[in-house]
Amino acid sequence: MPRIEYAGRCHCGAIGCRYTTARSPADWSVHACQCRFCRSHDALSTSDPDGQLQIFVNDAVMLQRYRFALMTADFLLCRNCGVYTAAVIESDAGRFGLINTNVLSPAPERIAVVAPISYEDENASERMIRREQRWTPVTEVPWQ
Ligand SMILES: [Zn+2]
Repeated sequence: MPRIEYAGRCHCGAIGCRYTTARSPADWSVHACQCRFCRSHDALSTSDPDGQLQIFVNDAVMLQRYRFALMTADFLLCRNCGVYTAAVIESDAGRFGLINTNVLSPAPERIAVVAPISYEDENASERMIRREQRWTPVTEVPWQ
């Protein structure tokens, strides 16, 4: 499979992402995380450890990096339209992220079936290790 780039953005367009993966959307692993944050955004997450993720802003002042619970990831929210676009961790192994598939435009056809999932039993180090292994390497962020 050739690598394909999928573009995503918040509703107003201030926050954007580019997700590159060789996996066909039917083979994506798409999760409906059952934490309160993801449920309240109706977020569907996907990532590919062999893919690539870029985060960029068209309007930097609109970027809100929100942390909660174990405070291990930045959930990227738009201050203008409120949409949750992606999440990013920074660890010794680098930066890794996932996207909310609902922000992709155009929406991929025949996207994989969603699996509900709960990570509630993880501690902070287990959570970081899982994300380093499963999230997408991030090659660009709009902050230092
Ligand atoms: Zn927005």
